Amino acid sequence: MEGLRRPLLRTPVRHEGGAPILEVSHLTVSFNGRLALDDVTFRLTSGERIAVVGPNGAGKSTLFRVIAGVLAATKGEVWVAGCHPGGHICIAYVPQRSAVDWSFPVTVFDVVMMGRAGRLGLLRRPGRADKESVRGYLALVGISELADRQIGELSGGQQQRMFIARALAQEAELILMDEPLSGLDLPAQEGIFHILDELRQRQVTVMVATHDLNLASERFDQVMLLNGRLVGMGDPGDVFTPERLRLAYGGHLRLVRTDDGAMILSDTCCGMDR
Ligand code: ADP
Repeated sequence: MEGLRRPLLRTPVRHEGGAPILEVSHLTVSFNGRLALDDVTFRLTSGERIAVVGPNGAGKSTLFRVIAGVLAATKGEVWVAGCHPGGHICIAYVPQRSAVDWSFPVTVFDVVMMGRAGRLGLLRRPGRADKESVRGYLALVGISELADRQIGELSGGQQQRMFIARALAQEAELILMDEPLSGLDLPAQEGIFHILDELRQRQVTVMVATHDLNLASERFDQVMLLNGRLVGMGDPGDVFTPERLRLAYGGHLRLVRTDDGAMILSDTCCGMDR
């Protein structure tokens, strides 16, 4: 009977002991001969929180989709905990809100329970322990009272919390969030960061694509500056230099010195031509 407990759809990939949670080596992706990502190489260790920034069309979503195993690399390699991305159930990908059909007739509870699917397999129905853990994760992200709501009834911040609860239910070790902060007011953003702090405690690695460079520099351990190529990665103070920002954004950004340091002013709203 033990075999029936194993997922039939995807066999969980074994992790190589000691391997970094994510290693990307010379990753190149092109669509119809046009480069979206060009020779990108980096690695992340467990528990890091990294902001991925760059203009529209910089390849942020493409990078996430390759890491999540839903898009193939044209060249190069991606390793998640020492193995190729396809088949991992330790990766949770939270797409942009605009990519989700919010009218779909499912409840918040159902969506979070979907996080258990990879662990349950085809034949096992969610048991009491699964339901308990879903309730626990809903409580952890502060939306217990919304469990029975249809997903379209949630605010933007609540939607992000729901996806984080789903990632937790999945026992994800690497969470990729595509612009989760866009359109959220400051209290809602604060709420999300509070939960991201909890994830860091749990050694979960989180990559967040964002347009907000000030937030990226204030609230993340590391930043990655992308414009098809990897322009820089590391401490925000080392990466967000005028030269690198110009390389990534052209003339669409200005660095303004203030008493507190530097503030980045953006007037970019359109994709960059490379
Ligand atoms: P970002 O998330 O930084 O805005 P994307 O990864 O969405 O950037 O896009 C990077 C580049 O790849 C863009 O030029 C975009 O038009 C192109 N691209 C992304 N997905 C596709 C696709 N499915 N087909 C063709 N081109 C694509």
